Amino acid sequence: MAKRVHEVWKGSNKFIFGGRLIFGPDAISLPFTISLIVVPMVIFCVFVARHLRHKFASYDAGYAILVVAIAFTIYVLVLLLLTSGRDPGIVPRASHPPEEEFSYDTSVATEPGGRQTPSLQFPRSKEVIVNGQPVKVKYCDTCMVYRPPRCSHCSICDNCVERFDHHCPYVGQCIGQRNYRYFLLFVSSATLLCIYVFAMSAWYIKFLMDEDYPTVWKAMRHSPASVALMIYCFITLWFVGGLTGFHLYLITSNQTTYENLRYKLDNRPNPYDRGCMHNFREVFCTKIKPSRNNFRAYVQEEVTRPQSISRSREIEHESDSNPRSKVEDDLELGGDLLRISQRRNFVSVDEQIVGNSSRGMQSVISESDLIPVSDAHISSRGRSSNWEISSDVLSTSAIVNESSVATRKESQ
Ligand SMILES: [Zn+2]
Ligand SMILES: [Zn+2]
Repeated sequence: MAKRVHEVWKGSNKFIFGGRLIFGPDAISLPFTISLIVVPMVIFCVFVARHLRHKFASYDAGYAILVVAIAFTIYVLVLLLLTSGRDPGIVPRASHPPEEEFSYDTSVATEPGGRQTPSLQFPRSKEVIVNGQPVKVKYCDTCMVYRPPRCSHCSICDNCVERFDHHCPYVGQCIGQRNYRYFLLFVSSATLLCIYVFAMSAWYIKFLMDEDYPTVWKAMRHSPASVALMIYCFITLWFVGGLTGFHLYLITSNQTTYENLRYKLDNRPNPYDRGCMHNFREVFCTKIKPSRNNFRAYVQEEVTRPQSISRSREIEHESDSNPRSKVEDDLELGGDLLRISQRRNFVSVDEQIVGNSSRGMQSVISESDLIPVSDAHISSRGRSSNWEISSDVLSTSAIVNESSVATRKESQ
C-alpha cells in the first residue's frame, strides 16, 4: 500500500493526526510549555479572579476579569499551537543533486602521460540579486538544493527552512517564514497576559488591605496565591517581554535572529530592510505563503538509500558535534562523492548488471538500487571545489558492486 509523505519523511519531525500537524523532534517540551501557561492561570482564576468578582459596584465588572483571563489564555494557547504545529516553511528535499549545476572542466587536471582527466565542477554557492544587492545562496548537502535567500538548515529538525529565524525548544518547532507572525503574537500576548495577571493580583492585595487586612504583610499572608503569581509573572516577564522587545527591534531592520547573530559584525547593508513601516507590514500584513509540502499526499515510489550512502550519512552525523556547524555548509565529501558517482553511473550499472535481461526488468529497478561503480575520489580545493575522478576508492565500490550483482542475480 502506498505510503504518505509524512510516513517516509526524512527530516526528524513528528507528525500527528495523519500528518495534519507537524512538530519538531523536541515537541515533547510542548506540554511543559502549555503547563507553564495553564497552571498559573488556573491558580489565578480560582484564588484571585473568583474573589474579585464581588469587589466592584457593577457586578459584571468583576466577572469581566475572569472572562478576560480565560479568553486570553485560550488565545495564547491557540497562538502556541499555530506556531508549533504547522510547517514553518520547509524546503522540500531533492532526490538528487541538481545535475544542471555540474560542469566538466577538462583544462584543470592533466595526468603525467598527457591524458586529460575531466573534473566535475560543482559550485558550493551561487550569487543571486535581492533588491539590487548580491546575496550568496549556498548548497545544502542534506537537502540537495540551493537554499533560497534567508533559508537555513535546522540541525534539530534536519530541514532547510525558509526565512529561518531560530529553532525554539519551548515551542518545539523551527521559527521560519510560515510561523514567525504567530510566534511573535504568541510571545507578545504572553507578555500582556503576564502583565494582566500581575496587575490583577496586586489589585486583589490592595482590595484586601482596604478591607480586613490593614498591612501589606497581612494581606499577602491571606492570599499567598497572589504573591506566588506576582513573583512568577515578574520572572516570566523578563523572558517573554525581553523576547518581544528583541523581535520588535529585529523587525524594524528586517533581520532574523539567525542573521542578527551571524552577521552582527559584518557591516554589509541588509538587502531586506525596506524601511520600518514596510518591514512591519511584511511581517504582519502579507499573506502567508502556502506550504511547499503536502505531508498527507501519497508517495508514488519509495526511494531508499543504498547501504553505502546511509553509512556516509551516519558518519556525517557522528562527526557533527557542534549543532551550529551543521547549519554551516560543511562539505561532506563522502556523502557527496557517493551521490554524485551514483548519479553519473547508474546507466552503466544497468548495462553491466542487467545485461541481457528484458527492458521490463530494467524499468522496475529503482534509483535506490543503483550502486556506485565508479572509481571516484574527491580532492577538495576549498569550498568551490573540483571533483576529481581517480582510482582510490575503486576497491570499495567494487565490493559494493559485487554485492549488488549478487542481489540482482538472486532476483532474476
Ligand atoms: Zn538543508
Ligand atoms: Zn528546527
